[in-house]
Amino acid sequence: MRYNISRIRFPNTSPEPDVDDSSLCITKDKSKCILCGDCVRVCSEVQNVGAIDFAYRGSKMTISTVFDKPIAQSSCVGCGQCALACPTGAIVVKDDTRKVWKEIYDKNTRVSVQIAPAVRVALGKELGLNDGENAIGKIVAALRRMGFDDIFDTSTGADLTVLEESAELLKRIKEGKNDMPLFTSCCPAWVNYCEKFYPELLPHVSTCRSPMQMFASIIKEEYSTSSKRLVHVAVMPCTAKKFEAAREEFKVNGVSNVDYVLTTQELIQMIKESGIVFSELEPEAIDMPFGTYTGAGVIFGVTGGVTEAVLRRVVSDKSPTSFRSLAYTGVRGMKGVKEASVMYGDRKLRIAVVSGLKNASDLIERIKSGEHYDLVEVMACPGGCINGGGQPFVQSEERE
Ligand code: SF4
Repeated sequence: MRYNISRIRFPNTSPEPDVDDSSLCITKDKSKCILCGDCVRVCSEVQNVGAIDFAYRGSKMTISTVFDKPIAQSSCVGCGQCALACPTGAIVVKDDTRKVWKEIYDKNTRVSVQIAPAVRVALGKELGLNDGENAIGKIVAALRRMGFDDIFDTSTGADLTVLEESAELLKRIKEGKNDMPLFTSCCPAWVNYCEKFYPELLPHVSTCRSPMQMFASIIKEEYSTSSKRLVHVAVMPCTAKKFEAAREEFKVNGVSNVDYVLTTQELIQMIKESGIVFSELEPEAIDMPFGTYTGAGVIFGVTGGVTEAVLRRVVSDKSPTSFRSLAYTGVRGMKGVKEASVMYGDRKLRIAVVSGLKNASDLIERIKSGEHYDLVEVMACPGGCINGGGQPFVQSEERE
């Protein structure tokens, strides 16, 4: 007899949780599923991944992976669009907030954090700021009050990616190795998709690390003299970044450069848990020496941003007029597939910018049948990282 309750008058009709916790990106609880199929449609029709589908188990319909395998063993690429689409919380973003709180409370750790460009606007809106208001200064102030020791902006890492990726593009062109385009590599769900569905294209995917990973390796190296254990957290709009951070390629002596990835949703939850009145905070500055960055990194959050930043670097005319005309070449905007061409010396470079993996797979088929591009930017989430799987939940009617 617990709590002096000797008799339960009503039978417990709520279903037992049926949780698949195998993925690093999402958690799935079948018991909350109402079979609306929103996750299946986004996974198959928008993303062309087909990791989950309707299935009959005996006479009972369910949503499952092939052969009921754990999600981690399915074709899931971790984009998290299913979690954004699910109206009942049957699929949610993996929650790493407890682990990060534990590190912050540990006196023997020095916890640094980087914030991705796409986080700042979505987070501000959820915490009482006006639509479109850039919340980066207030986010920095909130993170300091929560106990983070060093606070940086991923835009610095994005600047490094632009330098490396544009150098790689020009090297391929100079060496005449551009029969196939150079595919960008900063979206981990796209890299997963390429590995699982188009492995033959991997030699054409940029060798550059993503901005998050480039920046994390520098931060870990720069602060390695600290007497405390270094922990690095990245705040991202992205669920797939949780998978990227855990990849073997990004570990040094078995330790990940990024120890934890928090999505925008998780950071909002942590700020609320702290009791901080976000809208009342005075904006604060990013920590030096990594507190400076160009505008190129900031535009990484939207589809076409990576390409525009690389083109700014590649074109010989660096005047404001030339940059302004680049913005109008057609790489910006929310269309699923955009094409543009720019002159590099006397050569015309053909560029494609694609968001949504179904669009990517259609474009790849066109490339395979002979269409030529020099650079292809792929972002897995429709519209780019601003619509990432870790962004705040938006009712589907609001999204349309
Ligand atoms: Fe993550 Fe952005 Fe790729 Fe979406 S588009 S999976 S948010 S990197």
